[in-house]
Amino acid sequence: MKPSDNESAMPNSKAAISRTVARLAIPLALTIAVVSVLGFVVLTRDVAQAQQLNVQCNADRAFDYLEQVCRIGPRISGSDGMLRQQQLIIEHFQKFGCEIRAQSFDAAHPLNGQPVRMTNLIVSWNPRAKQRVLLCCHYDTRPYPDRDFLRPRGTFIGANDGASGVALFMELAHHLRQIQPTYGVDLVFFDGEELVYSNRDKYFLGSEYFATWYRDHPPEYEYVCGVLVDMIGGKRLRIYQERNSVRMAPEVTQSVWNTAKRMRVREFIHRVKHEVRDDHLPLNQIARIPTCDIIDFDYSPWHTTKDLPSACSGESLATVGNVLLQWLTEVRIGE
Ligand code: ZN
Repeated sequence: MKPSDNESAMPNSKAAISRTVARLAIPLALTIAVVSVLGFVVLTRDVAQAQQLNVQCNADRAFDYLEQVCRIGPRISGSDGMLRQQQLIIEHFQKFGCEIRAQSFDAAHPLNGQPVRMTNLIVSWNPRAKQRVLLCCHYDTRPYPDRDFLRPRGTFIGANDGASGVALFMELAHHLRQIQPTYGVDLVFFDGEELVYSNRDKYFLGSEYFATWYRDHPPEYEYVCGVLVDMIGGKRLRIYQERNSVRMAPEVTQSVWNTAKRMRVREFIHRVKHEVRDDHLPLNQIARIPTCDIIDFDYSPWHTTKDLPSACSGESLATVGNVLLQWLTEVRIGE
């Protein structure tokens, strides 16, 4: 408002002018104050949005996926349950228009040597990107809950140890197209992580096959780094840095935990606790893809009949999902 513009409409006397100015001055000052405050709020919100994604995983939906997978029952490599799970995963990601590949091979059954059909599933986002990030989990379940004191030959459902990674990736499908990841993204489901009946049996059959194939048949693209998730759905989620990850993939590990720290996600604890052998070993050692393991190794129902949906939580899945989505948009390895 410029007083000179309205001069003709204003009263003539100085007193009247000063009263008018006084009447106008207070609302004007208030308007300026309000505009300044609003401007500040808008500005700070813009800055915050630039730093933090406006995308949130849906905890209820993620938990529904976990229950859907568990309703199939055990998903042991080569079993009918595993086939039904493959169907569920393929149908889910087809709805999002993703490219899905199956990498199949036979492995000898540890009990009788008979061939067991193994299948890794690879779901690609932005398949043309030559530099890619590998997000992976295992999706087979252990034949028996052998740490179960009362029922070591009972039914093992693997709600956290098996279904949680699958449920998380199914939930990520809803968000990956809304974000702009630094690199192309492959979600990989490894078979044969634990087709084991005794400690002598071989772990990581699927990831080892995948890593060996990648080393011996270099594709047109390159995996810049990888993140493995395992047991990330437990109710009381605590994720420490894992020793092998820190040793073999320090930059990736730090980048994930730094993202979590910036997001104030307290479930990611910036300290090394466990040393875990998991699917990240073949990826680091054979494929030379620096890969860290995000694993809650303090989950008490581990390898027991109590690893059920009731021991898991959609909030935990969403927490890890939100960190991963944010991390995908800001990760830069080796730059
Ligand atoms: Zn396990």
